[in-house]
Amino acid sequence: MTAKVIDGKAFAARVRAQVAEHVARLAGQGVVPGLAVVLVGEDPASQIYVRNKGKMVAEVGMAGFERRLPADTSEADLMAVVAELNADPAVHGILVQMPLPGHLNADLVINAIDPAKDVDGFHISNVGLLGTGQKAMVPCTPLGSLMLLRDHLGDLSGLEVVVVGRSNIVGKPMAQLLLAQNCTVTLAHSRTRNLPEVCRRADILVAAVGRPRMIQGDWVKPGATVIDVGINRIEVDGKTKLVGDVDYASAAEVAGAITPVPGGVGPMTIACLLANTLTACCRLNGLPEPAGLTA
Ligand code: NDP
Repeated sequence: MTAKVIDGKAFAARVRAQVAEHVARLAGQGVVPGLAVVLVGEDPASQIYVRNKGKMVAEVGMAGFERRLPADTSEADLMAVVAELNADPAVHGILVQMPLPGHLNADLVINAIDPAKDVDGFHISNVGLLGTGQKAMVPCTPLGSLMLLRDHLGDLSGLEVVVVGRSNIVGKPMAQLLLAQNCTVTLAHSRTRNLPEVCRRADILVAAVGRPRMIQGDWVKPGATVIDVGINRIEVDGKTKLVGDVDYASAAEVAGAITPVPGGVGPMTIACLLANTLTACCRLNGLPEPAGLTA
């Protein structure tokens, strides 16, 4: 079998178009969704992410706010910036770019963001709301992965899922979202015994590990849907190449469908950040939420 390729790039473009359409409608009511991105320090990868986010925000017609702070910013100064953005009615989404310099406590900063503006979905209130099946801001990467799965498979009810990786930003919220879709969920991690055998049970296999090409084709159940969240940079013939956590060549021989890297989950993350900003804006203004852009 050769797997169907799940085209996250094309799907993300559709999500962004849907967001842009809704933003244009809101403009008619005098409402402009605004996303504020806070960047502390000079991390080159973070600078690229922030630049890309700014570009996409402008493309969908939202207002972008950027706060760049020096690497030696104190916790008190960063908290003051967050408080200012919390109070600003033009800002509906606040994202503090991770990782923060080592002297800053990321949990403290995230939990200082107004949960209603927490478009990353990392605030403890949103984690609790998601875990108890209530209306939450949902982390962007798992939300994007769920959108791809629902588009490809429709009803996910009763399906056997294995999520490999239990981070707070991907693995755990992914498991919660799929549980809410009535899947039977196994959350695997570095201490899981017989991981290949566990993975072979999965109708849906989600890899969020951070280890290049770890998951092999013979770990995949024939016909399964494979969502590869991993983004790893490796050197091949002196050139940097982007690969996932799944060995694409062998897995695509067995799976029914698979997301490529790049062009799979990656583009969905930023599309869902825009979708979350729009959702936050609608909720904060007491306006109807756009359909199909939330969990
Ligand atoms: P973390 O490093 O926070 O978590 C990795 C998880 O993988 C941990 O739970 C760890 O287990 C588990 N793990 C590590 N090694 C093994 C192993 N040998 N066997 C089984 N489990 C293992 O990573 P993230 O969740 O932040 O990211 C995961 C991947 O997703 C990365 O490649 C990252 O770049 C990518 N990513 C992609 C995004 C996108 O937009 N597409 C967004 C965010 C992340 P334990 O808890 O036991 O240590």
